[in-house]
Amino acid sequence: MTASTPPPAYRLTDEQRALRDAVRELARERVAPRAAEIDRTAEFPWDLRDLLAGQDVLALPFPEAYGGLGADLLTTCLAIEELSAACATTGLILAVHELASLPIIHAGTDEQKARWLPDLAAGRALIAFALTEAGAGSDAGAIATRAVRDGGTYVLDGSKRFISHGSVADRVVVFAVTDPAADRHRNLSCFVVEASAPGFSVGGLSHKKDIRGSPTAELIFDGVRVPVADRLGAEGEGFAIAMKTFERSRPGIAAQAVGIAQGALDVAAHYATERVQFGRPIGDQQMVQALLADMDAATEAARALLYTACAAIEAGEGDPGRWAALCKLVAGDAAMRVTTDAVQVLGGYGYLEEFPVERMMRDAKITQLYEGTQQIQRIVVARSLLASHR
Ligand SMILES: Cc1cc2nc3c(=O)[nH]c(=O)nc-3n(C[C@H](O)[C@H](O)[C@H](O)COP(=O)(O)OP(=O)(O)OC[C@H]3O[C@@H](n4cnc5c(N)ncnc54)[C@H](O)[C@@H]3O)c2cc1C
Repeated sequence: MTASTPPPAYRLTDEQRALRDAVRELARERVAPRAAEIDRTAEFPWDLRDLLAGQDVLALPFPEAYGGLGADLLTTCLAIEELSAACATTGLILAVHELASLPIIHAGTDEQKARWLPDLAAGRALIAFALTEAGAGSDAGAIATRAVRDGGTYVLDGSKRFISHGSVADRVVVFAVTDPAADRHRNLSCFVVEASAPGFSVGGLSHKKDIRGSPTAELIFDGVRVPVADRLGAEGEGFAIAMKTFERSRPGIAAQAVGIAQGALDVAAHYATERVQFGRPIGDQQMVQALLADMDAATEAARALLYTACAAIEAGEGDPGRWAALCKLVAGDAAMRVTTDAVQVLGGYGYLEEFPVERMMRDAKITQLYEGTQQIQRIVVARSLLASHR
């Protein structure tokens, strides 16, 4: 299939609709009432982690053989979307859990999967994904953290930045250089590091304006010994494992973006029916209607692309990297625009903490940055597009 071949159609199954509706109810009743407090206190919501674990939401992306629900990509994205409409931090709990577990699911041996996945599927353990460093953001090839083989172990030295859940995770998937002389896409290997390992520490947390309940940590590796048995895949496969992971995790960020956009649209549309100026609801004003209509169109377009991308990736049709980048690009930009317009619909009140849209606007921004900035998504799409036309 080339980039211009019509994509596969998606149609939500009865099971997917039931799951979506159940998570929506959970999000509205249990998550939404906590969202403002999580944002204000900037504390990781352990109660909601427990809720998602108890309701088997965290089990969605894991194979049934290891205690998971074996959900397909679209089903997991539906759950992230619904949670994020109420609270982006809570949606990210599932998104990061999936992101950091994917390297084990894809590249782990049966023994490694049996060792790590059941705890993760049950939500008893949390896991983080540590690729980024101070000098290696968009350019993962610039990673400097070293892993040096010493008999039956590797010794890891270096540090990682911006690691979601880095301070609350029980274990971390870490990418480190094993062969500095190798080509930049063949020099990395991937390891699972226990947070209890001597030499591992959390250097500090970043103070940020968005997804404030999600701790973003600096991680330090000071002579951390990792058994060879805890390396995922072969030496030199780290970069490929990271890229394969993004093919399934970027749709999760697109789902977070669609959820944030929908949450903001719902607040704005409701407000427009109640706020009266010039003797009638502002929703009667055509310019406000135009704002709302454009917000609705952008959200639905992003959602349709996301679901199509999930169907294509799951069916193995076309370039999965292109689909993942396309939907994250479109959904991230839609979320930023829709949430900004939601603040506009609420006028000055949109800027106050008593309404959730200013929080949603702050949260939307991160979807344009992490798991590859929007510029990086464009590079991925353009490369795939051009390759299919050569
Ligand atoms: C809240 C938060 C959570 C995060 N969670 C994680 C996590 O869990 N795990 C993890 O590993 N990382 C995580 N990250 C890191 C995130 O993925 C990086 O911040 C992101 O990849 C960008 O890297 P950078 O910040 O170093 O920006 P840079 O790479 O320095 O980019 C700066 C600017 O230059 C642009 N740019 C760079 N290269 C190019 C190019 N070739 N062409 C065009 N434009 C370019 C970028 O698009 C951007 O606009 C997180 C970041 C944040 C803020």
